[in-house]
Amino acid sequence: MDEETIVYENYNPEEEPLREALCTLGNGYFATRAAHESSHAGNNHYPGTYLAGGYNRMKSEVEGRIVENEDLVNWPNWLFLTFRLPDGNWFSPDNVKILSYKQNLYLRKGFLERTMRFSDSENRETVLISRRLVNMKFPHLGSLQWILIPQNWSEKIQIHSALDATVTNSGVERYRSFNGRHLEFIRSGKTSENGIFLEVQTCQSHIRMAQAARTLIFDGEMPGKPERIIQKENYIAHETEFKCQKLSPVRIEKTVAIYTSRDNAISEPVYEACRDIENCAGFDKLLKFHIRSWEHIWNRCNIDFENDNKVLSILHLHIFHLMQTASPNTVDLDAGVPPRGLHGEAYRGHIMWDELFIFPFLNLRLPFLTRTFLMYRYRRLKEARRAAHQESFGGAMFPWMSGSNGREESQKIHLNPLSKRWVPDNTCLQRHVNAAIAYNVWQYYQSTDDKEFLYFYGAEMLLEIAKFWSSVVSYNQFRKRYEIHGVIGPDEYHTAYPDSDSPGINNNAYTNIMAVWVLLRAIEVLEILDENRTKEILDNLSISNEEIERWKHISTNMFIPVENSFIWQFEGYETLKELDWKSYHKEYGDNIRLDRILENENDTINNYKACKQADVLMLFYLFSSDELKLLLNYSGYNFNPESIPEMIEYYHNRTSHGSTLSRLVLSWVLSRADRNHSWHIFKHALLSDFLDVQGGTTPEGIHLGAMAGTIDIIQRCYTGIETRNDVLWFNPCLPLDVKSLSFRIRYRSHFITVSVNQKELTLYLEEGLGNPVKLGFGGEIHLFKKKQKLVFSLDKTCPA
Ligand code: BGC
Repeated sequence: MDEETIVYENYNPEEEPLREALCTLGNGYFATRAAHESSHAGNNHYPGTYLAGGYNRMKSEVEGRIVENEDLVNWPNWLFLTFRLPDGNWFSPDNVKILSYKQNLYLRKGFLERTMRFSDSENRETVLISRRLVNMKFPHLGSLQWILIPQNWSEKIQIHSALDATVTNSGVERYRSFNGRHLEFIRSGKTSENGIFLEVQTCQSHIRMAQAARTLIFDGEMPGKPERIIQKENYIAHETEFKCQKLSPVRIEKTVAIYTSRDNAISEPVYEACRDIENCAGFDKLLKFHIRSWEHIWNRCNIDFENDNKVLSILHLHIFHLMQTASPNTVDLDAGVPPRGLHGEAYRGHIMWDELFIFPFLNLRLPFLTRTFLMYRYRRLKEARRAAHQESFGGAMFPWMSGSNGREESQKIHLNPLSKRWVPDNTCLQRHVNAAIAYNVWQYYQSTDDKEFLYFYGAEMLLEIAKFWSSVVSYNQFRKRYEIHGVIGPDEYHTAYPDSDSPGINNNAYTNIMAVWVLLRAIEVLEILDENRTKEILDNLSISNEEIERWKHISTNMFIPVENSFIWQFEGYETLKELDWKSYHKEYGDNIRLDRILENENDTINNYKACKQADVLMLFYLFSSDELKLLLNYSGYNFNPESIPEMIEYYHNRTSHGSTLSRLVLSWVLSRADRNHSWHIFKHALLSDFLDVQGGTTPEGIHLGAMAGTIDIIQRCYTGIETRNDVLWFNPCLPLDVKSLSFRIRYRSHFITVSVNQKELTLYLEEGLGNPVKLGFGGEIHLFKKKQKLVFSLDKTCPA
C-alpha cells in the first residue's frame, strides 16, 4: 500500500462486506459498492447502487403496528457480468479455486482493479483482470473492463451481462424486518445500437431510473456484439458465445448509462441513457477523462505530510470517499450529504448533523459544495416551519434525520440486535441539529464572504432557527433564567431521567450554549444586512423588535449547568451512578454500544454517568477557549478556561466512544494540551473505518463525519486555522511525529498554499479573484496580497 493505492493481496470472502464499502466507487451523482461483478446479494456480497437524493417511503408491519420508513434506495445492479465454460458453473470468485488475487483501489485515478488467477473443477486455469470506474467527468456513466486470459484451455465461453432490478434494500441486517422492495418494473428492451435498457420506478416517490448497457467483446481488434437478449420482468441480459484460444486475451467492456427523472436538462431517462451508450467511447478513453477530473479534484483537495505512509494513505482514502459522495457533480441535485456516504444503507441514507464535521473541509477546498448542501436545507425550511408549528414552537425546527422533503425521518422504534427487542427511539429530540445548521451557515459565510448567499438564504435560516430557540425556552421564575427541557444532547445515550416516563433531559449544556450562540449570530446578521433586506426579512418572518429584545434577554440569562467553571453535561447528570467501566470494557472491548448492552441486561444507560460520544467536549471542538469564555460570560457565568483539561479528562473517562465521531472530537480537544496524546487518539479515529473498529458498521456504509473530520484535524486543528471576524487565523502546533505538512486552501476566492513544519509557517497567496485578505498570526493581522509569501516563526505558538 502506498499513499495513492489501497491494496488487498488475498481474497477473503468474510472480509468482502467491509471491502465492498471501502472500495465503493462514486462520483457525487451515484455510487456503487465494490461487490464483484458476478455476485448477487447474500453470502458476503451486497452489490448496492445509490443515487444522491434517491429516496422512497414504504410502510411495514412491525410488532403489530404499521411503521413508515424512508430509505435511500438500492437501484438496479448494473454491474452483473459473468461467464461459463462448457460443463462449468457461472463464474464467481466463490466457486473457483483462487490461485492468486490482488485488489487495488487507485485513489488518485479513481478506479478499482482486481487481478485474479483461478482454476475450476476441471483444472482449467484463467487469469481475469477487471477494472471498474464510476465516471467523475461524465456522471451518468459507469464502466467495466475485463481482460480474460485462458491459461491452459481453448474452449467456447458464454458471456452473460445483465441489468438486474430484482434487488431490494437488505444491506443492513437489523432493518430486514422492514419492507425493502422499493422498485417497480416499468419496461426493458433493446436499444437501436444493440444495447439493452431497463426502466424502473420507486413505488412511492415515483422516481424513474433508466439504465442502458452496451457490452462489447474484443477477441482480436474488432468488437463483437452480443447475440441474444434474455428478458424477464425486472431483468434483462445479453448473452453471447465465442471460442477462446489458450493465452490469447479477450477484452470485454460494459458501459452503462444511468438517468433518472430527478435529472436536470434531460428529455426523459430512457431516451438519455440509450443516447449516451450509443455514442460513448471505449473504456480506456473514458478512463482518461475520468482521471483528468480526479486530477482536478486532487489539485484542490490534496494533503501532504511527512510521517508514515499509512496515515497519509488512509487520509487520502477519506478524501477520496468524501469526494465520491460530494463532488462537483452533486451541485444542483438537491441532495444532502449522508453520514454513511452513498456506500450503504445504514441510517437509511438520511442527512443528520454530521455536516458539522464535513463542511469545514469543504469550506476551505470546494466551498460551492457547502453552498449546495446548505441549499438542500434552505429548500426544506417550509417543512421545518411546519414541524415547529406542530410542536407549538416558532420559527423552523429542522429534523434530526432528513431525507426527500425534510420531514422528520427518525424511526420511532428500533431493534436492539442484542436483546432482539424493539425499543422506543426518541433520538429525534436532538434539537441541537438546528444549532449545527446555523453554525454551518455562519462558518460558510466566514470562509467565503458569500454575502449574496447570506442575503438571500443564510440569514433567513439563521433567523428562523433563532426564532425556534426563542420559542423553545421556558423561563424559570425561581432561577430567573431561561431553560431548555426535554431534549437529547449529542451524547444520545441519555434519552430520559432515571425512572421518568417522559423522554428527554433538561438543560443540556451543549444545546443551551449553542442556542445562545445562535441568538447572538441572528442579532449580528441583522447588523450585516442592509436596511432594505433587514426590513424585508423581518416583515417576511414576522420578527418584531420585541422578539429581538427577547433574544438579547434570553442570551444574557440562559441557564447553563456550570459549577466553578466545570460544565455538567445536563442538569442532574452529577447525580447519576458511576458505571463499572473496567468490567464492561473487559467483556465487550474498546468501542461499545452500552445502551444496547444495558438494555439487554434489563437495565438502562439513563442511570449512569456514561456517554456514547463527546457532548460537553463538543463545545471545545467548536469554540476556542476565549470564545467559550465570552459566551458563558455573556450568559452571566464566570468561566475559567483552565478547567478545560479537567473536563476533558472527566468526560473522556466516562465515554464509550460508541460513535466514530467521538474520538475525532477528543483528538481535537486534546491537541493543545497534549499534542502527542491527541495524535495517538487521532490515529485511532483515523482507522475507524479501515479496520471497521465497531465490528460490522462500516460494511453498512462508511462514516463520512469521521472521515472528513480526520482530514479536518490535519487541515484546521494542527494548523490552528480559524475563520473568524473576517480574518483567517493561523496558530500551528504539529504533533511531534509530523515533521511537515502542506496543502492548498481556498479562502474568499483565493488559493493559499499552507506549509508548516515544527519551526515555521509559510503562506503563499496565489492569483485569486477576490480582494486582499486579512491573515492573523500571533495576535497580529496582516493584509495579504496576491503573489505574496509570508513566513512566520513558530517558536512562540507551540508549547515544547
Ligand atoms: C451518532 C450521531 C451521528 C450518527 C451518524 C450516530 O452513531 O451518535 O451523532 O449523527 O451516528 O453518523
